[in-house]
Amino acid sequence: MELTLAILKPSAVERCLIGEIISRIQKKGLIIAGMKMMHLNEKILREHYAHLVDKPFFPSIVKSMTASPVVVMCLKGVEAVRVFREMTGVTNGRNAAPGTLRGDFCMSGQANIVHASDSAENGATEVARFFKPEEIFDWMPADKDFYYGADEI
Ligand code: ADP
Repeated sequence: MELTLAILKPSAVERCLIGEIISRIQKKGLIIAGMKMMHLNEKILREHYAHLVDKPFFPSIVKSMTASPVVVMCLKGVEAVRVFREMTGVTNGRNAAPGTLRGDFCMSGQANIVHASDSAENGATEVARFFKPEEIFDWMPADKDFYYGADEI
């Protein structure tokens, strides 16, 4: 099964949205394989957002992502990366479709409440960046037959 990284950003933590977001993740059927709170710093953000380090707005990303602790989650499922990316919606919350997390809960292109890995390769890399191996739990719900058909997993 695929792993993907979710970060509930300071804009979710400060606005008391983490319960709502976790609830949607669980109701969808994505399995929480790891979850913890941490305070990010510029070093890890330079790695995580390496594709944006040279942009003029990068200092502003660092400021917004370090404004409070975040909740990092490792989500597991069949096609978990694509599924959670689609649940998240496009980058700017003002353009994100209703029904997506960003579309329902934010108005910003920066304070956009959630990070979602964008490929299976990045999912694995990002989970390894934010979690130690022993913080990822290799478990499945006891009633997994009600999450997937037998030939899907
Ligand atoms: P996504 O998070 O949708 O994968 P990107 O990887 O392009 O999008 O950007 C990472 C994060 O950087 C965004 O979620 C957003 O918080 C921030 N960001 C992106 N573009 C801008 C911008 N033009 N100005 C300010 N912040 C931005």
